[in-house]
Amino acid sequence: DTRIAKISSVIRVIPDFPKPGIMFQDITTLLLDVGAFRDTIDLFVERYRGKDISVVAGVEARGFIFGPPIALAIGAKFVPMRKPNKLPGEVISEEYSLEYGTDKMEMHVGAVQAGERALIIDDLVATGGTLCAAIRLLERVGVNVVECACVIELPELKLLRLTTCVLFVSDFLCA
Ligand code: IMP
Repeated sequence: DTRIAKISSVIRVIPDFPKPGIMFQDITTLLLDVGAFRDTIDLFVERYRGKDISVVAGVEARGFIFGPPIALAIGAKFVPMRKPNKLPGEVISEEYSLEYGTDKMEMHVGAVQAGERALIIDDLVATGGTLCAAIRLLERVGVNVVECACVIELPELKLLRLTTCVLFVSDFLCA
């Protein structure tokens, strides 16, 4: 798809951010390009429209940028998966490991119902740990996670390989 090369070309890579040795993939430059931003959303919408998905769950923070336009276009509700102590209502939470230490992800109780079909959106997948926490959170309340999708995939944390990214929910990913 010719759109992918264009999208890839407008994602900026900033070396040594937020710390030395990290090549930070900066999607804010993609958002500045109206055509490339629209194409990014369209690629996801083309894949997920008509798949009976009623929930788009966006991972804080950049899943909040890509998730809502996809949700509106496919006729699904948007559910934010937030960092701890941000959501005002009753929450359920899921802990996950980071390179150093742990973090937590939270979702409002009642935002989704058992049996619903969900798509999880984030900007980037590296180890998959963040997406796995999102999958566990939704599955704990009986939601069927159809797929996770990201703009950028960092295979083995090395090179930028832009995909419309499709991570089938598999034992491999969630191991
Ligand atoms: P994972 O849990 O190792 O897959 O890391 C993915 C999470 O880290 C996502 O929520 C990303 O937004 C964030 N992340 C990691 N590296 C980068 C980067 O280079 N640019 C933007 N976000 C990143």
